[in-house]
Amino acid sequence: MVTLKELAAKEDLFVAGHKLCPGCGIPVILKIILRASKYPVVISNATGCLAVASSEFPGTSWKLNWIHNSYGNASAVMAGIETTYNALKKQGRVPNSRNIKFLIIGGDGATYDSGLGGLSGAIERGHDFVYLCLNNQTQACSGGQRSSASPMGVSTSTTPSGKVSSGKMQVAKNISGIMAAHGISYAAQAAPWNWQDLHKKAKKAFDTTGPSFLNVLTPCPTEWQSSPEKSIELTKLATDTCSWPIYEVKDGNEVTINYNPPKKIPVHEWFELQGRFKHLLKAENKWILEQIQDEIEKSWELLISQNLKVN
Ligand code: SF4
Ligand SMILES: [Mg+2]
Repeated sequence: MVTLKELAAKEDLFVAGHKLCPGCGIPVILKIILRASKYPVVISNATGCLAVASSEFPGTSWKLNWIHNSYGNASAVMAGIETTYNALKKQGRVPNSRNIKFLIIGGDGATYDSGLGGLSGAIERGHDFVYLCLNNQTQACSGGQRSSASPMGVSTSTTPSGKVSSGKMQVAKNISGIMAAHGISYAAQAAPWNWQDLHKKAKKAFDTTGPSFLNVLTPCPTEWQSSPEKSIELTKLATDTCSWPIYEVKDGNEVTINYNPPKKIPVHEWFELQGRFKHLLKAENKWILEQIQDEIEKSWELLISQNLKVN
């Protein structure tokens, strides 16, 4: 296991000057992940909070090569970059011994929705990249709309809670399962409270030849309507409710649950600290809360049934 001292000794490639909100999970997650590659990293970043807040002219927070793309095409652009790099190697214009890692970053809107076709195609063609989904369960950059990663019951700007609606009525898409169904060599879910697990998964993803996928729960105090100082704790609570299990899938079918909560907590304990769920705590919405709890238990049981070993 990596230690904090070892992590701190490595160069920080995402530095001060960005305009991400106080308490935003993105910088913490990036600093852990970027320290996991032995080789230089090139990033293709779909539009989202990170792209917008890290590159305002004339500044940048990136100390590596970074390209900004629209919501839908970050994977297609990286597929082109990786192909070109390999062609240059074949032509002898880049030394064969040189190694570069290709990292695609998208929010949940870009990953689960608008960029899913491009991502699926890049995986199917077998390009060599790591895909990182910074999943804050909403389209935070464009006004806090629902995405298909938004959990059931959540109030968003397009599923507002009120007299005619009690929030989003659909369960979140199982994107990690969809990635695994591509037969991808490595797919994992992680949360930043367990930073050693996150770092280990990033390392495995960078060490994988071919495509790999990381889905990281990313606290967003602005849209979650939560206290900035609670951000990391909220990701732990999500894991302890089993609404955000942390696990990995190798070769599309070998499932390992990396953290089995010693004491599972009811989902309302996670909801109580976030304004986006406060309507669910009212007596008239008890039925939704029960349905959400049932859905969580069903998904956890399904995961357990696929699990070969529990760490
Ligand atoms: S809106 Fe959310 S994800 Fe975006 S910068 Fe602010 S806290 Fe981070
Ligand atoms: Mg988002």
